[in-house]
Amino acid sequence: MIFEGLSEKLQNTFKKLKGKGKLSEKDVKSAMREVKLALLEADVNYKVVKDFTKKVTERTVGHGVLESLTPGQQVIKIVNEELTELMGNTQSKITFSSKPPTVIMLVGLQGAGKTTTGGKLGGQLKKLGKRPVLVACDVYRPAAIKQLQVVGEKLDIPVFSMGDKMSPVNIAKAGIEHAKKYGNDVVIIDTAGRLHIDEKLMNELKDIKTEVTPHEIMLVVDAMTGQDAVNVAKAFDSELGLEGIILTKLDGDTRGGAALSVRAVTGKPIKYIGVGEKLTDLEPFYPDRLASRILG
Ligand code: GDP
Repeated sequence: MIFEGLSEKLQNTFKKLKGKGKLSEKDVKSAMREVKLALLEADVNYKVVKDFTKKVTERTVGHGVLESLTPGQQVIKIVNEELTELMGNTQSKITFSSKPPTVIMLVGLQGAGKTTTGGKLGGQLKKLGKRPVLVACDVYRPAAIKQLQVVGEKLDIPVFSMGDKMSPVNIAKAGIEHAKKYGNDVVIIDTAGRLHIDEKLMNELKDIKTEVTPHEIMLVVDAMTGQDAVNVAKAFDSELGLEGIILTKLDGDTRGGAALSVRAVTGKPIKYIGVGEKLTDLEPFYPDRLASRILG
């Protein structure tokens, strides 16, 4: 479970604070040292951790919190608010175009879960009454097109493909035309990934972006890779400009460093989280719920 270790450590720290009744500035500072360590152990970005504990301390010391009747509770409330803020505050939704189809381009490294997530997202949108089509633009990985077709079949969502001989730009354009013709109001483009970020990958993605101007470019990134995920997000955002992030494999991520850092580092919201291998295992991301879950 995500945040297992972090949650336990923070809860221990705050139990001590609550047990004290009256709190001194020193108590808060020592609690913040424990919070800092717990966040770093959860693989949260160093600067994010520093800013976070500084903010909590500032809001606590000298603002009447320590003199209040339940200072421990107040500190926890502030930590909860700041954790929520760190993850983007409110739920960030996909913006649908007033002129359909809404074009969503999924990008990311190989193995992050792009193809699976494309299907999952299509499934969710279908439940909302949309008529999505999946477009197979990963022409390099031999099994990618077939994989998308299998996913589409399971979900009863159409998959547009032109094999692996056409350029991804042309496939994307033709996919959008197809959507217009057949009344699909959402186009989800599955693009190619590579093991590492390289110029060729970025150039191809930029070409697709230029040619089809997607409404949303979303990065699919593996939460289990922690700070690497954050660095990947930073790189994709500076090259392409992202509207949002889908953090996959949260079910296997016990630490939670990516979930807690990526928004603060890139400024871009996490819109969905992948929580398992099943095609229904995708959830909208709610910062407040996750913060409450951490604090128990
Ligand atoms: P792609 O190379 O980015 O298209 O990645 P795939 O869609 O092929 O996914 C790679 C692997 O990650 C597959 O085995 C997926 O089932 C798995 N996967 C994707 N999302 C999740 C998730 O949220 N949780 C878990 N446990 N596995 C996932």
